[in-house]
Amino acid sequence: MTWLAAQPQGIPLPKPSELSAPHWEAAKNGELRVQRCENGHYVFIPLPACNYCWSTKLEWVKTSGKGTLYSMSIVYRPQTPAFQIPYVVGIMEMEEGWFIMSNVINAELENVKIGMPLKVTFTKMSDDIALPYFEPA
Ligand SMILES: [Zn+2]
Repeated sequence: MTWLAAQPQGIPLPKPSELSAPHWEAAKNGELRVQRCENGHYVFIPLPACNYCWSTKLEWVKTSGKGTLYSMSIVYRPQTPAFQIPYVVGIMEMEEGWFIMSNVINAELENVKIGMPLKVTFTKMSDDIALPYFEPA
């Protein structure tokens, strides 16, 4: 069995932009926030306009952090040696109907299956960044 843990300190971290800063600020407070347009569409990754209806009236809303594993890949050759392998990159389908890519952790690799229920969990990596990972719900 292979235990999937959060990545260690020292991996490359996201650099929040003006557009994505609200997402990362919320993550520091243990909240998974996403943009939602005036017509109810969820927008992720952060964009200046809704990619369904082009509305520029977007707000950052708190989400449940619950979803299921939609797709996955097991990584054995990381981008830098700082990453512990293997790790699972997943695309999570969130219960509000939007998608996010992250890692699946706190699970045995052999038990990670498409469709499994997951919930967000945050790992503080620096004063500015807490990474949203997903673990079995
Ligand atoms: Zn929209």
